[in-house]
Amino acid sequence: MGSGAPDNWASLSPEYTQCATGRFQSPIDLGPIAAADVDSLDVAYQTDVLRIVNNGHTIQVNHQADSTLKVGEHPFRLLQFHFHSPSEHTESGQGHELELHLVHRDELGNYAVLAVFIDEGAELSDTSPLWRYLPEAADEMDHVYEGELIDPTDLLPSSLRHYQYHGSLTTPPCTESVVWNVLASPVTMSAEHISRFRELYAANARPVQMRAAWCLAPHVIGRVETPEFDSTGRSRE
Ligand SMILES: [Zn+2]
Repeated sequence: MGSGAPDNWASLSPEYTQCATGRFQSPIDLGPIAAADVDSLDVAYQTDVLRIVNNGHTIQVNHQADSTLKVGEHPFRLLQFHFHSPSEHTESGQGHELELHLVHRDELGNYAVLAVFIDEGAELSDTSPLWRYLPEAADEMDHVYEGELIDPTDLLPSSLRHYQYHGSLTTPPCTESVVWNVLASPVTMSAEHISRFRELYAANARPVQMRAAWCLAPHVIGRVETPEFDSTGRSRE
């Protein structure tokens, strides 16, 4: 993995220290959290021109149309979406093939990410432009494709039932002002497109972050189904 491996992020820049010292880092294992619609999600995405950018770590689709996600009553604006392989969040240790992150920001600079698990199966409708214009290689850093149209709504499952917690960005600088909304229902994509993505970015997922149980409890908004104990045997309750 070399110097760019997640364990080394904090040593790369003084601005990345939260990657090592932060207490509310993402991703996490969602195991003990029940998916609960604590804050309702209201997705109002618009069709936009497809802008694929290869940043060397993933393909990112920059979004400029006026697309919003409301978490409860709070509006966030969609900036971009990108993919991780394998999934970054896990459910009781179980991951998924890929994870889609739709990244939003509000006027104050807070982030809200809508995360969607992707499993192998039937191809999602109308996503083929996305896969047709992938870069030839991951080191083709200046690859920018602009054209065709894409509606991010096509990337979502029908149910918006979700896990919600407060965490961080999963890439440097690992900023901790992120409301995570991880959808409980996965979508599916074809084996061909999943393997095409993996050929480019074989492993671009940050491992799940340990957080002390006492840190987790007050910041998890989703209902806790089963008690969890920290290493000293104390209940997080
Ligand atoms: Zn991401």
